[in-house]
Amino acid sequence: MGFSLAASWNYKCPKCRQGDVFIKPMDLKNPLNMPERCAYCGQRTEPEIGFYYGAMMVSYGISAWLYLGLVLVLVFYFKWSVNQAMVLLVFLAVITYLPLLRYSRSLWLHFNVRHDPAEENKQKQLKANSPKIGNDWKPNRKQKK
Ligand SMILES: [Zn+2]
Repeated sequence: MGFSLAASWNYKCPKCRQGDVFIKPMDLKNPLNMPERCAYCGQRTEPEIGFYYGAMMVSYGISAWLYLGLVLVLVFYFKWSVNQAMVLLVFLAVITYLPLLRYSRSLWLHFNVRHDPAEENKQKQLKANSPKIGNDWKPNRKQKK
């Protein structure tokens, strides 16, 4: 019921929490590659055109507040110079750019798509009852509408 930080962090489908919202493994040339629908429950990963403009706000919000807090602590508590703090900030911004972009998309989808416990149980059952369970197991694609 409700919002799951773990599911959004693990890039799981917000509706059934079984499928992935990003295509695995990550392709560095196309890191935001998402399947059109959740392979389990058929939830669309882009509910409407331009849906992920909202994710840009999430990403901005997280990074702005996180980095502002970090710089304030470094400068005022640890007595770093502003330039030192900026160097660290740029470094952090570069290494967290992709993960943050992906996490923001996942989070945004989780904010906007309601979790469906019945669907989650149904998909878990299908998964558990599949004789071909394993790494090569493919979700039931007939679920697509
Ligand atoms: Zn799903």
